[in-house]
Amino acid sequence: MLVKVAIDLALDRLFTYEVPVDLCQEVRVGQLLRVPFGHREARGFALELMAEAIRSDIDSLAPHSSTLNSQLSTLNYKIKPILGIADPAPFFSPAMLKLVRWIADYTCSPIEMCLKAAVPAAVLKPNAKPKELLFVEACAGRVACPQTVESGALGAARPTVEPSELTAYQKELLENIRRVGGGWVQQLCREFSTTPTTLRALAAKGAVTIAPRAQRRDPLAGRSVVPSKPLLLNGMQRAALDRIVNPQPSTTNYQLPTTNYQPILLHGVTGSGKTEVYLQAIAHELDYGRGAIVLVPEISLTPQTVRRFASRFGDKVAVLHSALSDGERYDEWHRIRTGAARVVVGPRSAVFAPVKDLGLIVVDEEHDTSYKQDETPRYNARDVAVMRGVFENCKVVLGSATPSLETWFNAQRGKYALASMAARVAGHPMPTVHLVNLEEESEAYASAPIFSKFLLDAIAERNRRGEQTILFLNRRGYSRVLECKNCGCVITCPNCSVAYTYHSADCCLRCHVCGGWTPPPVSCPDCGAHEFSYTGVGTQRAELALRKCFPHARILRMDADSTARKHSHDDILSAFRAREADVLIGTQMIAKGLDFPNVTLVGVLNADASLNMPDFRAAERTFQLIAQVSGRAGRAEKPGEVFIQTFHPDDFTIRSAAEAAFGRFAAAELKERREAGLPPYVKFATALFRAKEGPLALRWADLYAKSLAKYPGLTVSEAVPPALERAEGWFRYQVQIRALASKRIAAAWRWVVHERPVPKDVRIALDIDAVHVL
Ligand code: ADP
Ligand code: ZN
Repeated sequence: MLVKVAIDLALDRLFTYEVPVDLCQEVRVGQLLRVPFGHREARGFALELMAEAIRSDIDSLAPHSSTLNSQLSTLNYKIKPILGIADPAPFFSPAMLKLVRWIADYTCSPIEMCLKAAVPAAVLKPNAKPKELLFVEACAGRVACPQTVESGALGAARPTVEPSELTAYQKELLENIRRVGGGWVQQLCREFSTTPTTLRALAAKGAVTIAPRAQRRDPLAGRSVVPSKPLLLNGMQRAALDRIVNPQPSTTNYQLPTTNYQPILLHGVTGSGKTEVYLQAIAHELDYGRGAIVLVPEISLTPQTVRRFASRFGDKVAVLHSALSDGERYDEWHRIRTGAARVVVGPRSAVFAPVKDLGLIVVDEEHDTSYKQDETPRYNARDVAVMRGVFENCKVVLGSATPSLETWFNAQRGKYALASMAARVAGHPMPTVHLVNLEEESEAYASAPIFSKFLLDAIAERNRRGEQTILFLNRRGYSRVLECKNCGCVITCPNCSVAYTYHSADCCLRCHVCGGWTPPPVSCPDCGAHEFSYTGVGTQRAELALRKCFPHARILRMDADSTARKHSHDDILSAFRAREADVLIGTQMIAKGLDFPNVTLVGVLNADASLNMPDFRAAERTFQLIAQVSGRAGRAEKPGEVFIQTFHPDDFTIRSAAEAAFGRFAAAELKERREAGLPPYVKFATALFRAKEGPLALRWADLYAKSLAKYPGLTVSEAVPPALERAEGWFRYQVQIRALASKRIAAAWRWVVHERPVPKDVRIALDIDAVHVL
């Protein structure tokens, strides 16, 4: 028998090995195998098993990128036998392999990179293993009734312990151990003030056994989780739940023989109780013995979110997020694979969790751009979820108050089913939204204030009433830029084409692209003058300004700088929830998912920042941001109020967002997209070309743009420098590609990469369905 193996080399080709006769019964597709590679040992996933007879066909293997092929084919010339099986349990089911193949095809990525993206590195490390500690267990019934020992098989080979052989102290300890059902050596020593030596003495007398046992590394250990019961659903929630648990067969042709469920868009305004619907849909799946995956945006994967699921499903929940230790990740992943955990909560990579009998995938805040991976493979976990639903025939729910226009469009044309929840739970009203014209405010103050008078009055009133305020500003740091007062020169990062941001906490200039930093210059590098002005406002500056206005208010700040420590994120939110602060000021970290009943005021300090982005989705993003932040206000009995500060109070997007008029906004925006030939009406991809020298990057971008333009069915832009022209020392050029089907873009890309391989000092990357046009 032969096996095709994907080895982690990013060569985008499979290698064929022979399976020795004695392993033929054991080798399975999806397993991790040990194979010889050149002069060393490598590990790779078994992707395909083939009968010996087709040995002659293997030379016709057609890898996508073939630059290294000729050099490598010699390595592979003689078929060698595999060395062994690294883990008998397959890492991928046949359905998961199909999914990974789909991702490789769709995103034009090497299959082994896709496989790698689907299994946590912590699980694949050769030395990864469960944590084992010594566990003490009382031997059955020995001391209390020694006569039973003779008949019991347990420890029959050991000497029988007579009660008289134990000291009074040992007897008491043994009783205690029995009462608590045994325990870890360390834990028992602490609990019963004893020592390992004493425990060993008990073991020597045959009263207890001490043996290594796997101890779960639990990410929720030590965090209080109060069990919760299902809430009584309101009519809209009930209708939504019905649609989810009784989905219609899909009518769309996915080119698959099976009839599948139709994915459902759950469009529910902020505070309409979507999470409760997810919880009850999951409970339904569990009742039928099926598991579920809940994807949440990285930013809203707060302990609060995790707790809502853990409260309902307890130990059945596994959490996968980036802050886990390798050990925690290893254990959680294995709990999922063995079926001990049935509900997985995690960010985009959790879409690959090896849940057995998967019944449901929920993608919460489906519009969130963190679902898109920004390195190879550039997949969108929302779309992967829909495809996994197809391959495993499970239900898929995409939830959002502000769906992406792609998903909305799919719901409008019937590819997805639609369930709507248009009002908040328990009759709570949507917040009242005020637009504050910064233009008029500037006239009164000679320059645009950070906080308008309206907003300050509203904050003061909340402080008086003991209610809380959330202020949103999408810029961390103190000020945006440091500008020379004499010549107007702006201090920029030498490696990136962006201005440094001044951070007041440590008095330094930081680049938000490459993370580089430098102390502020003493004199202007251009004119030598010594005076600088700080222009623009970041969260640190806003916080200081607010402290000046309200010296007695308790203020918390939440951004990437204030949450660098582990748990600091949780600590800040817990403190705010416990009403230890009056105002929470922060970046997009606080825009989503937070549910604080005492927050009755939300302020958006500058709504225009995202509106002015050079991206065709700028309006969509602005709408989402305003609607989501506003959604944090007045979620319980007390009504909420929102102030949105803007220079464009008449802008259609800002007005629609203020009125939470999603349908109106989406209809108008879709009309514009159709006229302009933009997604969701076409497929859109960007190709990025990078090199240490600008002209080199431009030359290749240009060459590719011209070649691609010849491919039928594509609309290709010229090579242009994106808004971020240089990053981390690399010059960047971009080509935008549009076509009716993404398959066409992928095919054209494979063709051009094959025809015109780039030299080593040029980096290229294709991003199909790019979510950022930078
Ligand atoms: P969304 O995710 O749609 O923004 P949430 O699921 O966070 O909304 O729900 C908002 C609040 O309403 C939560 O505090 C939740 O516990 C509460 N809630 C949800 N459903 C109900 C219900 N049927 N009855 C009472 N309260 C509910
Ligand atoms: Zn930089």
